[in-house]
Amino acid sequence: MKKIQMVDLDGQYQGIKEQVNSAIASILENSTFINGPEVKAFQGDLEEYLGVKHVIPCGNGTDALQIAMMGLGLKPGDEVITADFTFAATVEVIALLQLTPVLVDVYPDNFNIDIAAIERAITPKTRAIVPVHLFGQCANMEAILALAEKHNLFVIEDNAQAIGANYTFSDGKKQKAGTIGHVGATSFFPSKNLGAYGDGGAIFTNDDALAHTLKGIVNHGMYERYHHDVVGVNSRLDSIQAAVLRAKLPKLDEYCGKRRDAARKYSKAFKGQENIVVPKTVNDCEGICDTCDCHVFHQYTLKITNGKRDGLVKHFAEKGIPCGVYYPIPLHKQKAYADSRYREEDFPVTNQLVQQVISLPMHTELEDDQIEYITKTVIDFVNG
Ligand SMILES: *Cc1c(COP(=O)(O)O)cnc(C)c1O
Repeated sequence: MKKIQMVDLDGQYQGIKEQVNSAIASILENSTFINGPEVKAFQGDLEEYLGVKHVIPCGNGTDALQIAMMGLGLKPGDEVITADFTFAATVEVIALLQLTPVLVDVYPDNFNIDIAAIERAITPKTRAIVPVHLFGQCANMEAILALAEKHNLFVIEDNAQAIGANYTFSDGKKQKAGTIGHVGATSFFPSKNLGAYGDGGAIFTNDDALAHTLKGIVNHGMYERYHHDVVGVNSRLDSIQAAVLRAKLPKLDEYCGKRRDAARKYSKAFKGQENIVVPKTVNDCEGICDTCDCHVFHQYTLKITNGKRDGLVKHFAEKGIPCGVYYPIPLHKQKAYADSRYREEDFPVTNQLVQQVISLPMHTELEDDQIEYITKTVIDFVNG
């Protein structure tokens, strides 16, 4: 059996080596390192893939979120509702812009933001909701859009983990994750589902005026050379990263499919096991159905419900199996984001998830013998 990796970037590279090497070499040959034609070409390719009018490339996913919020003209003191159970970048940019983060609880079965909790948190100061499509599947966007319309709020999708996922509305209409709200933000960090070989990010919107504003903000607030109309930032996707991403984008659906295959095998192996709860998809198919494209499994995250999660993490280390605990501390308990308004009884799910979750190795190169070894190790330890 090959050594198990949490994310196998090298194995993936071997399959696209020629395309990637020649794409990088062409940038080296023409020295268009910043704002080269590859950036524009990638932007167009991604717009087409996502079915969105505007993609604005930028430096990383955290910048993408920040720039999206700047573009919407949110003002200090505006309240922005987001999930307690996410990576800190989501809440960090809200705080950096001196907006007021309002953290709310998530659902226990699919880890995404709880609609009733959002509704309870809305006040006259609320200006935006930031759903995070955690671990690779969309939050309940239909309900979020309805709440946003009712209360006149912006919806900013944190799509760092779900690029390529589809969201199906109740009328059957499908839309790509990140293109459903007013604006979406994604990350091309190497381990994300569409990963560059360095940092990268992008903002998506169908709103022409907002797209224009965002294009200025990413470039020092310039709409005309050396005319700075608004305070902006410097956040660029460099041409080498764009070339890598452009070589990888045609493979994204295949990569998502491979992740789903691995998830399906994991879930099958755990079927019927007590104390081991497999991730639920919004369609409730547990990742087992063959047609589902709602989940792209950025992470495959189990809940271990008999108190053995921490033991399993240690046992994995002895067995040569990497794993992750995403996330070990609720954001409302982080020093930087604590707020006297939060009450523990508002976060029963997140408080429990941080003790139960464990993410298994998940990437495009997982082999059957590795999956068998991993699932057997989990079952023997948790239920042995
Ligand atoms: C990775 C990630 C980000 C940040 O992306 P970077 O490119 O690392 O800045 C933001 N939100 C979520 C949910 C993420 O997983």
